[in-house]
Amino acid sequence: MAHKVSDACVGCGACEGACPVGAVTVEGGVAVVNADSCIDCGACEGACPTGAITAE
Ligand code: SF4
Ligand code: SF4
Repeated sequence: MAHKVSDACVGCGACEGACPVGAVTVEGGVAVVNADSCIDCGACEGACPTGAITAE
């Protein structure tokens, strides 16, 4: 399990700043979650202004 990013992502980087384990980074204008390090805490979900990042 890991959080995943939808097409609604606008690359703002809010999730990147919110993630406590550095599992999400913005690459080429879109957020990418590293499934191996994501602990499913949900912090990115709360930080995302477009609801683009959600639990799988
Ligand atoms: S759910 Fe938590 S650990 Fe996973 S990417 Fe989001 S903020 Fe990071
Ligand atoms: S907070 Fe949402 S819109 Fe912003 S980079 Fe992360 S997933 Fe994309």
